[in-house]
Amino acid sequence: MVGKYREKELVKNALLSGSPILLKGRKGYGKTTLSKAIAELLPKKILAVKGCKIYDDPTRPVCFSCKRKLLEENTVELTWVPRIWVRIPGDPMMTTRQLIGGISIQKIREGYDLDHPEVFIPGRALKANRGVGYFDELGALPSAMQTLLHELFEEHQVTTLEGDIVPFKVETLELASTNPANYRGTNPIKEPLLDRMEEIEIGPPETLEEEIEIGIRNMFYRKWKGEEPHIPRWHREIVARIVRYARDKEKFDFTKRIESEPSCRATIKLFDHLQSKALRSGRLVPLLSDYGENLEIVKLSLMGRIEVEFGLSERKEEIVERLFEEAKRQTCRQVYNSLPGDRFAEFYEALRSVGVEADGKKAIPIEFETVPKLKSQSIINYYVEFVNGSKQPSDELYLSTVEIILEALAKCTPRFVERRGKSYYLGELVSDEASMRSM
Ligand SMILES: [Zn+2]
Repeated sequence: MVGKYREKELVKNALLSGSPILLKGRKGYGKTTLSKAIAELLPKKILAVKGCKIYDDPTRPVCFSCKRKLLEENTVELTWVPRIWVRIPGDPMMTTRQLIGGISIQKIREGYDLDHPEVFIPGRALKANRGVGYFDELGALPSAMQTLLHELFEEHQVTTLEGDIVPFKVETLELASTNPANYRGTNPIKEPLLDRMEEIEIGPPETLEEEIEIGIRNMFYRKWKGEEPHIPRWHREIVARIVRYARDKEKFDFTKRIESEPSCRATIKLFDHLQSKALRSGRLVPLLSDYGENLEIVKLSLMGRIEVEFGLSERKEEIVERLFEEAKRQTCRQVYNSLPGDRFAEFYEALRSVGVEADGKKAIPIEFETVPKLKSQSIINYYVEFVNGSKQPSDELYLSTVEIILEALAKCTPRFVERRGKSYYLGELVSDEASMRSM
């Protein structure tokens, strides 16, 4: 699991103290992922009594049927069971039967014994025996069901109802999730149940790098194609920054107006939409134009995932546009600052020599036809390799690299470089330098 060092430490502590854990945080910050990561601390497979519905340990069976089997029979068949992780949804309609389990009256009428394996039907909480039971949105369970869980969380024991009281001692790691208290639609967890759990807050990724890694790792494209997406570093940074700025109320004046922040799903979907748009444009590597003429791709990923102050909803698009502009500006600034300075004039002249005469400037269109001309200049290759770190970039990566360099120049030295449509217009560097020197 990416990052979350503080949370992981707390989880380990709580686990070793035998406490059920409540993961508290907004949707999309990885509560479910963390619960699965915890399950991975368990052995990959366990040996269980064959046919047991709660995967009984043959040395310590808990269900009636296994207990009898082990006492009365000479041989007992065993089986391997893969690691157990059971999601128990916070369903307001959840019944005792679904949660804990019960006896099938039907089967008893048909003449089965009470300890016949067919008679007992375990609920979800019991099916998590010897694994992880993940109570997703615990507070949404009816309060009567929450009360039933006291015993489970405190003594790892459940009492099935149906008239008979039959205590079961289960071996489950109980985990649960909940949204922050002030979050829309959050159902409060009853105090006595809360008191039996250790609460760990799960926040957004702490760093830009973690945001990027979570976003890329969870892309649909990776599952679909089974390969890494073709998104260069600068686009990864732009995307992650858009989402991170939207969460940071202090960052800009306009981000104060964002009331509900986007989760990592916004990052994941923005990566996916950007990659899809590139594919639909016949490329693997995205270009800036793939964000959309009016940033449709950014809006598709963000409009539904942020809420703005009451009365400002018509300005939501504008807020998304500003997020993109700021994210691009910051990324360009970094690219610009990383460019080697010593051979810059030579590089700039080489770019100009590749351009087409227009309005007294040299225009470089961001098109594949330009790539061979760019590649014929070793100084351009030197700068491109410096930025993308690849000795033999594909034409697509090459073009994207030149584009971000030119965009960075346009952002940071607008007197020399200007973007118009699909081309960058490069003015003369020398005269400007001279004028700068005379200032
Ligand atoms: Zn059993």
